[in-house]
Amino acid sequence: MRLFKALLRFLSRSCARSAIAALLGAVALVATLQLGAVAGDRAPILPMLPRLPFPERLLPAPVLPLPELDCGEVSDTSFYGHLPYPEADRGDLVSVGSVLLHRDAAIDFNAMRRSAAATGVYLTDLSGFRSVAIQQDLFYGIAAARGQTLAQRARVSAPPGHSEHHTGYTIDIGDATAAWADFQTGFDGTTAGRWLLANAGDFNFELSFPPEHDCVSYEPWHWRWVGDDRSRELFETARRYDKEAGIDRQH
Ligand SMILES: [Zn+2]
Repeated sequence: MRLFKALLRFLSRSCARSAIAALLGAVALVATLQLGAVAGDRAPILPMLPRLPFPERLLPAPVLPLPELDCGEVSDTSFYGHLPYPEADRGDLVSVGSVLLHRDAAIDFNAMRRSAAATGVYLTDLSGFRSVAIQQDLFYGIAAARGQTLAQRARVSAPPGHSEHHTGYTIDIGDATAAWADFQTGFDGTTAGRWLLANAGDFNFELSFPPEHDCVSYEPWHWRWVGDDRSRELFETARRYDKEAGIDRQH
């Protein structure tokens, strides 16, 4: 009986020791796991990204071929052959007569107007900067009033978001002595129209829609300014299309 009691005491002590040892072991395990997690956060596994061979990374980006300009459809790149353009910052616009132009284009336009006037040719400003909202009315409103399809309308007017006039670098010019020719193809026969065809390039203006243009009707009154990097960058795609269409400009 005494021996039995002693055996019971030994067993109960060893159970307590085992329980304490098991508890300490669990605490140690949790602590180890947590430390491991923290260490893992500090040292994330980097994804294995494909690396280009060294010489290729130094080559300039290739100039991609232009997709075919489809004058009769709306696509990701054009709207019935018109390219997308951003609106100018209002802070960059200045008044030129009755219209607004980007201040850099305005300097050349004013110089051009003075130069023309010195030879007895009088240029008028018909339309400069236009917001997308105004172009919305010009495009859809007039199409509805005239019963035109959008494709028909796009031959003579740019859809909103696709007008060169949004940029502030484009101006429609008339002849002050021949108002009948405003926005008419016959403008190219007026003294102002002939003077512009001969001299506008000297002031960094070029005709956007010459007779050879693929998608837009001839507009001898509509001139875009390409006198600095920013403007040339905006019109780069249009000018590349022009080149592919065989439109040759000296400037
Ligand atoms: Zn225009």
